Amino acid sequence: MQDEAVQRRFAAGEILCRQGEIGEFALFLEAGKVEILVEQADGATVSYGTRGAGSAIGELAIIGSGLRLATVRAIDDCDVLVITRQEWERRLANSDPVVRLFTEIIVARFREVMRRASLVPMPASMVSSEDLELCIAGASGSDRLRMSSDLRSAIRKKELSLRYQPMIAVDSGRVVGFEALLRWHHPVRGPVSPDEFIPVAEEAGQIIELTRWALTEACRALKRIERLRDFTGQLYMSVNFSSEDLASPDFVDRVRETLSQERVSPYQMRLEITERVMMNRSASTRDNLARCRADGCGIAIDDFGTGYSSLSYLNAYPIDTLKIDRSFIVGMHHDADALGLVQSIIGLARTLRLSVIAEGVETAADLRTLRALGCDHAQGYYFSEPLAESQLLAFLAAWQPQNVAL
Ligand code: C2E
Ligand code: CA
Ligand code: CA
Repeated sequence: MQDEAVQRRFAAGEILCRQGEIGEFALFLEAGKVEILVEQADGATVSYGTRGAGSAIGELAIIGSGLRLATVRAIDDCDVLVITRQEWERRLANSDPVVRLFTEIIVARFREVMRRASLVPMPASMVSSEDLELCIAGASGSDRLRMSSDLRSAIRKKELSLRYQPMIAVDSGRVVGFEALLRWHHPVRGPVSPDEFIPVAEEAGQIIELTRWALTEACRALKRIERLRDFTGQLYMSVNFSSEDLASPDFVDRVRETLSQERVSPYQMRLEITERVMMNRSASTRDNLARCRADGCGIAIDDFGTGYSSLSYLNAYPIDTLKIDRSFIVGMHHDADALGLVQSIIGLARTLRLSVIAEGVETAADLRTLRALGCDHAQGYYFSEPLAESQLLAFLAAWQPQNVAL
């Protein structure tokens, strides 16, 4: 695989990396011996000792954007593993945000200590560690940390809630189901958008707990709505899942357990996953989805058309619904390409015998176009914004399908 560490051999006397270069890789010495050489400001070269098998070399230069602090020369023939900057950054991006932040800060501090002790000459233009730390931990880093720390208690403190957005059958105007959307009311910040806190929760490994809560809550709401509005068994609930949820080993057991505990039929549950989840091409994710599908759950691809992925996964995954991304619906009336795309997605869904739903329907004109193109279901501000449960009950009582029907 392209991202995996590559093995290389350096002959005795060869230079493994050179002081002052931009580091694009680090090395892990598996066999052999190297010497660390530092060229001083006066031009003299000083040896900083040797390293043997089991040492890491040049790792500082791929963490952050610093230049190499020393030249490393092979004393014996050396076998090394090459870890590229790209590989390091991928691993770092998948790590816990606290681990990431502290790693970057420790490296910045270390470079500053080296500079102050004049152990290595540094270009005057180089930023100080204070500046670097502010930059790393500033706007995004520390804010995300704080948010993730606050999220930890959000469920317990009842700061989270769900809103439900109705989905409407385009031909009859009937309500067919709802999408459950998370809301977080932070005691100080006020409402925080899911576009902000979901990525933080995903990164910090908290999304699994949030999803578990959302799934249970959405099932309970569905049962209450059915009871009060006499809709038993007719409506479905769509819940959003992240790739972290799908990858967790007890995913299927948890979904099954929640549905059975809350007495919701799998036929009334639709899992919404984004194209991104499928682009990971993980066998366990596919199996998990297949098991849910075999139980009767619907599987919808959210934001369809935005993932730049190959269409081959449409056959490989047990999908039953395509959800056309809002951006195409918004653009449909002034952009021929967007309209063409909507038309193609609906055609593709027909060919593959999938149902198709449009999100972000905001006007009567949007609905008319979607009806002419043969779209099955629609969702958007034209019908209703996402509603609290009590508002949803009022909406259902007042809803007149004929107002939007053919
Ligand atoms: P999404 O799944 O694509 O959800 C649709 C978003 O479009 C929602 O934003 C909804 O409020 C908004 N929307 C609906 N109709 C219209 C419309 O007519 N016009 C416009 N401009 N917007 C409309 P929201 O609730 O802010 O959620 C944003 C995203 O956060 C969601 O996008 C989803 O990716 C994520 N999210 C929300 N709840 C959950 C959750 O429980 N779990 C996970 N994993 N993600 C969630
Ligand atoms: Ca969704
Ligand atoms: Ca969407």
